[in-house]
Amino acid sequence: MIHTGGSEIEQLIQLLARLPGLGPRSARRAVLHLIKRKDALMIPLASALQRAVEAVTICEQCGNVDTSSPCAICTDPRRQQNAMLIVVEDVSDLWALERAGVGPVRYHVLGGVLSPLDGVGPEDLAIQELIIRAGEFTEIVLAVNATVEGQTTAHYITDRIEGLDVKITRLAHGVPVGGELDYLDEGTLSQALKARTAL
Ligand code: ZN
Repeated sequence: MIHTGGSEIEQLIQLLARLPGLGPRSARRAVLHLIKRKDALMIPLASALQRAVEAVTICEQCGNVDTSSPCAICTDPRRQQNAMLIVVEDVSDLWALERAGVGPVRYHVLGGVLSPLDGVGPEDLAIQELIIRAGEFTEIVLAVNATVEGQTTAHYITDRIEGLDVKITRLAHGVPVGGELDYLDEGTLSQALKARTAL
């Protein structure tokens, strides 16, 4: 076994290596970087992590991750006209749309997509919660990823809320087939929303 430091350091490397986009090699570099900048980076990071651990919560209305529930988006007075509700698979998609500056909209995080092969059914996602909220809005935008599972989920939701007096739209092309929203640049994403189409 290669010795890279004490068990605390090794444990830190192993934990960081589990983050998306970081493998063991980058985790080791990150830890070394932190240790070399203990006062400027490691201590502030540790206390920021601790504060985040204590503060983070899931919004009971939309499923966003924030420090309060309902979250800052749900309680934003500019978004209270209840015009447009954008349905996304994951919090990262919500954040991508916010980065793209799509306007005073509200969101609903499904927490995944229907995937019979992986045993993910409607009851595993926040679909019932969506149906309860849907009637409050004039338009529901299904901003799911352009994957087979995403489109299956969009069709299922459409079937479930069709009886309600609400317009249902989806993102326009420009979202590549198989494309994940989080990886799109902001211009493409806001364009896809502006040119959304009726289902
Ligand atoms: Zn919220």
